[in-house]
Amino acid sequence: MSEPSIFTRILQGEIPAEIVAETENVFAIRDIAPQAPVHLLVIPKTAQYHDVVELAAGDPALLAEVVGLADRLAAEHADGDFRLIFNTGAGAGQTVFHVHAHVLAGGLNEKSLG
Ligand code: 5GP
Repeated sequence: MSEPSIFTRILQGEIPAEIVAETENVFAIRDIAPQAPVHLLVIPKTAQYHDVVELAAGDPALLAEVVGLADRLAAEHADGDFRLIFNTGAGAGQTVFHVHAHVLAGGLNEKSLG
């Protein structure tokens, strides 16, 4: 067995983090190093999918739940508009291989991609 991911450890309460939303299958936390006024991570509870490509192929309904919670949180924490980022692969900046969506919102620079 591989070590539990940092997000599994947060979900299990081993590492402190404010869980801002939780459903049966998905939860959300604030990113520890925010890159926007609102920067949340929406994370499936299962650690079985390492990235969004695996998640889309293996459980598209769960991917839809991730997107739905991102939408709800952008409305609750900002004006409803948001940027959804899945870093996919180490070369793209992925550091935690337990799939998660970055939700960036609130005062984004419209012209910037990052
Ligand atoms: P990735 O680089 O894999 O796309 O995103 C991982 C994200 O997890 C990073 O933005 C990083 O700041 C965040 N992160 C890493 N460790 C922790 C932690 O212990 N607590 C929280 N809240 N966020 C974390």
